[in-house]
Amino acid sequence: PRGGLEQQLGRLEGASYGRYKSLVGTWRLPGSEAGGETLRLVRAQADPFAPPARLAVRVPGEQAGFPSRLWNTAVRRRALAGFIVRRAAEVVGGERALRIDAGGQEVLERSSCQVSADDGSVTLRFGLALPGKGRRIDSRSAQRLMCGLVPRIAERALRYEALDAPAVDEFVEAVEDSDALRKALPGLGLVAFVADGAVLPRGSGVDDRPAKGEKVVPFSSPEGLRVTVEVPNAGAVRGMGLREGVSLVVGGGFHGKSTLLRALETGIWDHVPGDGRELVVSLPETVKLRAEDGRRVERVDVHAFVGRLPDGSDTTDFSTDNASGSTSQAASLCEAVEAGARVLLIDEDTAATNLMIRDARMQSLVAKEREPLTPLVDSVRSLHRDHGVSMVLVMGGSGDYLEVADRVLMMDAYRPSDVTERAREVASVPTGRHAEAETFPPVVHRVPEPASLQQEPRRRGDAPPSGGGGPAGAGSAGPGKVRARGTDALTFGDYEVDLRSVEQIADPRQVTGIGLALRLLLRRGYLDGVNTLAKALDLLDAELAERGADALLAVRDEDFAVPRRFETAAALNRVRGLRVSRAGSATSTRASAG
Ligand code: ADP
Ligand code: MG
Repeated sequence: PRGGLEQQLGRLEGASYGRYKSLVGTWRLPGSEAGGETLRLVRAQADPFAPPARLAVRVPGEQAGFPSRLWNTAVRRRALAGFIVRRAAEVVGGERALRIDAGGQEVLERSSCQVSADDGSVTLRFGLALPGKGRRIDSRSAQRLMCGLVPRIAERALRYEALDAPAVDEFVEAVEDSDALRKALPGLGLVAFVADGAVLPRGSGVDDRPAKGEKVVPFSSPEGLRVTVEVPNAGAVRGMGLREGVSLVVGGGFHGKSTLLRALETGIWDHVPGDGRELVVSLPETVKLRAEDGRRVERVDVHAFVGRLPDGSDTTDFSTDNASGSTSQAASLCEAVEAGARVLLIDEDTAATNLMIRDARMQSLVAKEREPLTPLVDSVRSLHRDHGVSMVLVMGGSGDYLEVADRVLMMDAYRPSDVTERAREVASVPTGRHAEAETFPPVVHRVPEPASLQQEPRRRGDAPPSGGGGPAGAGSAGPGKVRARGTDALTFGDYEVDLRSVEQIADPRQVTGIGLALRLLLRRGYLDGVNTLAKALDLLDAELAERGADALLAVRDEDFAVPRRFETAAALNRVRGLRVSRAGSATSTRASAG
């Protein structure tokens, strides 16, 4: 590393802003003795209005001083990094020029902080708006930030001795328990677990922290579903185990059904101590589905749910630029299974009713020949029996699912009870309804065409992203561009991908991670026009399992959280220019609406 960053900055006082580029490289961290602590300017910013410069501080294992028990497994490293980065953000306080991506209630693998498996060294990455006076370098402010604040962060957050040791242990142990609990699910035949005492409701619709006050009812498991699981740190944990198969959640409105389902949605991630959901876990292959009218669908076999459309389009090979509520949900379900989902979650609040149910009276009134839709109630058993895909459904408004459910859970004033037996009795009285399907067909795998993701949008129909310019725009636009707009949208090259209905994205930085994952799929040739989407996702997962955030950092140094394959697939499926081929069929039909 070079020495003398402070002096070098001093020499640049008043120089043209672009000269910051001359500092790119690795420096000794100002103020540190010859201990090997470094500050790297990864990328300078071209002008004061461009996205912030990227910096990385590295403290070698010896100086960081974390005992190896805190970093000798991948899960512990992720947790330790999660603790450090939250502390680092506290040290930064209100300083606006420097942004540390600390994350929220979930403990995700993120680029902002990594602990090395080799020696426990800690790397903190962040964006810094390099100070300028007009278009000239303001070296005084730069010195204050890079030679004052940054070393202070290293001193106070990246060293074991500066941290609250019991709090570090608690954090790492909680994450490890959550992870171990999730990994124990398959061996127990469970798809999810909710610990007794868990706090499921959130502060508000826009506040993901736990609800507080006397009105909060902690979770209590119903006797019939109660299990005890051993976790490494907390020991025996008691709670509700949801077995595989078809689970139905019923109960009156406002009794906590959706809140329970949302806890299962986010049970794919680990949560910080105090969140209330630390011991609420679901299988990593759990996918929440919902209706999403208006979305694009590209060559998905939805005939299990949709047949004989009025316009005559072929629903075994179904495409549309504007799906209806029911066809969008049908497509999302088939896509989730294609990507490898093992558990599907559906809430009546966000589901398309006509895809969920078609009761006896409607069967008599509207002949099957006139109804393209086959409701899920008729294929949900086969999905589990023939495809190993379990389902957790919130359905307070129709009893038709009582017949097909393996178990029925009733929420009553936020307390669940097992009403499976009673539901069986109720369901034994025939309604006159007859099943409209026997089996759920095999998944049709699709092969994405890589060129369709790299190309400019066709002028008609596919609007280029707002802002950022078209293909001929500034250097930042074009096939390489990745930008997140909250958790709502991803700008990927020339496409704006709507992610509002992809509900398990836990963090805005995960959207950036999805964009980088898409680029990695292309760059590595995992999407090569031959591999199915599922195969490409397997290859991506293998690389992410081996290299973690480094795999995506190699694409671009940004603040991101590592995404799951299902969200990456969901984004890909929503790229409006995506084209795919399918084995054994060469033609595609395109309906304007489903
Ligand atoms: P449902 O889906 O059955 O209509 P919700 O899950 O939407 O009900 O919950 C209704 C309200 O009750 C929400 O405001 C939610 O935050 C609150 N709530 C849910 N679970 C609990 C609980 N365990 N304790 C206190 N309030 C809760
Ligand atoms: Mg609800």
